[in-house]
Amino acid sequence: GPVLGIESSCDETAAAIVAPDGRILAERVYSQIADHAAFGGVVPEIAARAHLAALGAMVKDALREAGLGFGDLAAIAGTAGPGLIGGLLVGTGYAKGVAIAAGKTYLAINHLEAHALTARLPGLAPVRPAFPYLLLLLSGGHSQCVAVEGVGSYRLLGSTLDDAVGEAFDKTAKLLGLPYPGGPSLEAIAQEGDARAVPLPRPMLHREGCDFSFSGLKTAVAQLVAAEPPGALARARAADIAASFQAAVTDILGDRLDHALKLCPDASAIIIAGGVAANTAIRTRLAAVAEKEGKPLIAPPLRLCTDNAVMVAWAAQERLAVGQASALNAPCKPRWPLEQLSA
Ligand code: ATP
Ligand code: MG
Ligand code: FE
Repeated sequence: GPVLGIESSCDETAAAIVAPDGRILAERVYSQIADHAAFGGVVPEIAARAHLAALGAMVKDALREAGLGFGDLAAIAGTAGPGLIGGLLVGTGYAKGVAIAAGKTYLAINHLEAHALTARLPGLAPVRPAFPYLLLLLSGGHSQCVAVEGVGSYRLLGSTLDDAVGEAFDKTAKLLGLPYPGGPSLEAIAQEGDARAVPLPRPMLHREGCDFSFSGLKTAVAQLVAAEPPGALARARAADIAASFQAAVTDILGDRLDHALKLCPDASAIIIAGGVAANTAIRTRLAAVAEKEGKPLIAPPLRLCTDNAVMVAWAAQERLAVGQASALNAPCKPRWPLEQLSA
């Protein structure tokens, strides 16, 4: 039967109902961006309260759209980590409550696994990727290359040594005086700039393995901005710096994907996920690297790349299909690396 999935690990509150065959019966996302905008970043306490305020009505709405009641569900799944503990407790507490009241199965889902398995949603890619495939997760909280070898079987090939790539976009945008969230505003102004105007470092380029590092790049931008005459940064200068920053990140990611493929040569496809996958320059570069290696690049539609509950419900379907479920006292784990999962 259908699964209700709940996502509340960061700043999106989401609920979705997904059938065993991957049909999406209903999906709802509430982005808390406006709740946090005044603070220039996600405030954990505000996030937890906003999840609590939004979740009940959102689930009711999703059930109405799907024409289902709690009794019709096979299971309820909640993101149990990694993420902000307040939000995780709200979402999994809700999911467990419904599971208890309706006498249904509960599943504690790992947020990263949910991103990793999205590409297997039937109908999403022209050809459903076979294991192993390569996941490049590029978000505000994570930068990872993962070999997806099976449901529950993940090999971390590389990750960031400092900032996540989305975080680097957000911090750099802040330095340039651009509005939060920084990624989209930086990409927009970069279109007016010259990507060769400002020399910036490309940390980790050509280095063995596929770890990332972005803090040096951010520091380089901070030094450039500090050297500017006092007062607001001229728009043309901000555009040049933004374009140069985006070009540096693009070069790094292209090179890291190249190296990741060396660590997983039999990958059937490359999947990109996370909000940074929305960036056109980055997408174009990654597609070029994939094509050079003769591998398909699968970029799920943006709403399934960023945080959503369809991926949580689908990961639960994958787990149910191999006979798994969670105990009602399964804990939330703010830190929960993919390699700790088991098949
Ligand atoms: P996580 O999912 O890892 O917990 P998150 O919620 O911050 O973290 P997402 O919602 O997947 O991640 O993506 C948000 C991030 O993507 C932000 O850092 C944002 O700046 C970045 N981003 C969004 N659009 C773009 C873009 N066009 N170019 C670059 N970065 C972008
Ligand atoms: Mg988010
Ligand atoms: Fe995410």
